[in-house]
Amino acid sequence: MDAKEFREFGKAAVDFMADYLENIRDNDVLPTVEPGYLLDLVPSEMPEKPESWKEVLEDINRVIKPGLTHWQSPNMHAYYPTATSYPSIVGEMLASGFGIIGFSWICSPACTELEVVVMDWLAKFLKLPAHFQHASEGPGGGVIQGSASEAVLVAVLAAREQTVASYRESHPELSESEVRGRLVAYSSDQSNSCIEKAGVLAAMPIRLLPAGEDFVLRGETLKQAILEDVAAGRIPVICIATLGTTGTCAYDDIETLSAVCEEFKVWLHVDAAYAGGAFALDECSDLRKGLDRVDSLNFNLHKFMLVNFDCSAMWLRDANKVVDSFNVDRIYLKHKHEGQSQIPDFRHWQIPLGRRFRALKVWITFRTLGAEGLRNHVRKHIELAKQFEQLVIKDSRFELVAPRALGLVCFRPKGGNEVTTQLLQRLMDRKKIYMVKAEHAGRQFLRFVVCGMDTKDSDIDYAWTEIESQLTDLQAEQSLMARKAGNVADLTQHFQIHLTNDNATHEKSQ
Ligand code: PLP
Repeated sequence: MDAKEFREFGKAAVDFMADYLENIRDNDVLPTVEPGYLLDLVPSEMPEKPESWKEVLEDINRVIKPGLTHWQSPNMHAYYPTATSYPSIVGEMLASGFGIIGFSWICSPACTELEVVVMDWLAKFLKLPAHFQHASEGPGGGVIQGSASEAVLVAVLAAREQTVASYRESHPELSESEVRGRLVAYSSDQSNSCIEKAGVLAAMPIRLLPAGEDFVLRGETLKQAILEDVAAGRIPVICIATLGTTGTCAYDDIETLSAVCEEFKVWLHVDAAYAGGAFALDECSDLRKGLDRVDSLNFNLHKFMLVNFDCSAMWLRDANKVVDSFNVDRIYLKHKHEGQSQIPDFRHWQIPLGRRFRALKVWITFRTLGAEGLRNHVRKHIELAKQFEQLVIKDSRFELVAPRALGLVCFRPKGGNEVTTQLLQRLMDRKKIYMVKAEHAGRQFLRFVVCGMDTKDSDIDYAWTEIESQLTDLQAEQSLMARKAGNVADLTQHFQIHLTNDNATHEKSQ
C-alpha cells in the first residue's frame, strides 16, 4: 500500500467509524452470534495475493461488526465505562502513524516530555497533592501505564523489593528467600480481581480483608490483620485500598488506612481506576481525603476521561523507589541525558521495555475538550445515574442495594437471588441493554452503570422501560406457572380423592 492508497483507505475508515459511532443506537448492544461464528466466515489461511482495502473494509461490516459488543452504545451498562472520543481516536491514529516506541528520552523526546506534561496537567486537574507532580521539588511524578492491573502490579512489585531490601538490612541473619517467604500484602474483599492477580504474579499472598457492611475497608481491620501477621513472623509489605470498588463503587477509608500503614511502614497504594475522575469535582472533594499520605495511586483515563483504552495514569510519591526496584541496564539502552531531572526514562517505571505514545491522545483530548469539558462529562454521568436511581426508587417492586455512587446504581428486584438472575437472563437474551451482576454477603444484585460516549436522558428512560417491563413479563409468567402448578395440584388431589373413593367402593362391593 502506498501513501495514495493509505489516504483513501484512511479517509474511508474514518468515515466508517464516524457512521458507526453516530448510528450506534441502531445496533442491539449485545451481538447475536454463536461461538465460532467468525471461524466459518474467514478462510483458514491468509491470502496468497494481496487483496484490495475495499474488500477488507466490506468484510469489517460482514465479519467483524456482527461479532462486536457495542461498548460505546448508550445501552451499555455493564462493568464501568470504557471511554472514547473523536479527539482521542485521532490521537491514537497519529501515534500509530508516527510508529515510535518511547522507552527512553532519546527514543523520542516528545513522547517522554509530553507524558511529563500531561501527567502534571492531570494531577492538577484532579487536585492531587503537589508532590505527585514531576514539576515538584521532590522525587514524585506520574506515568501512563496500559491498565490499572499493570499499575497495581508495579506498585506491588516495587513495594516488595523495597521491603526485602530494608528488611534484609535490619535482619542480616535472615536469607533473602526466608524474607521473601514471609511477605504478605492486604486489600479488601471488595477489591478488583487484578489485585489478587498482582499477588499471584508477585508471588506474595494478598489477604483480602472483610469490608464492613457498607463495603468499606477501614484502618482497624487492617491493623488487626497486620498485628496477627507480625506476631506470626510475617512481613507486611503493601495495602491496596480502593476508591470506587468494582462491585458497588465503595470508598475505602484512606485516612485510617494511611495512619496504620505509616505506623507499620507499609506501602499504601490507592486503586481509583474509575472514581478517580471525580477528584476533579469540588462537590466530590471528600474523596480526596488522605491522598496526601499514600505512596502511589492509579486512575484509568480510559474509564472516565474520554481517552480510549489503553491509558491508565499512575502517580508515585517517590518514583525512585520504582526506578531502583526495576532498573536493569544494557549498553544499548544508555544515552547521554540519562538521570537528568525532568527527563525520566519511563522504561524503569513499567513492566515492558517498549512503550506507546499514549500521551498524544491524552494531550489532544484534553486540549480539544478542555478541563471544563472533562468535568462536564463526569457530572453528566452522575446526573444520568441519579435519574436512573429515582426510577428505581419510584417502583416498589425494586430496591437499592447500596447508595448510588457516581455513575453506578446497585439495585435488584425484591425477592431472592433467583428473580435477579432470571431478570438479568431475560435482559441478556433480548440484547437491548447490557448489565452484569455483583454479589455481597450472599445477596446478588444488578449494577447499572452509565457508559457510552454520548449517553442521553432518553437512553436512561429506554433502559428503565426495558428493565421494568421485563420484570412485569417475568412476574406474569411466574404467576401463570404458579396457577398452572396450582391447577395440577388441585387435579392431583381431586384424582387422589376419586381413586380413594373408588377403591373404597370397590373394596366394599367385594
Ligand atoms: N480496579 C477497579 C476498581 C476496576 O473497576 C477495574 C476494572 O473495571 C480495574 C481495577 C481493572 O482495570 P484495567 O482493566 O485497567 O486493568
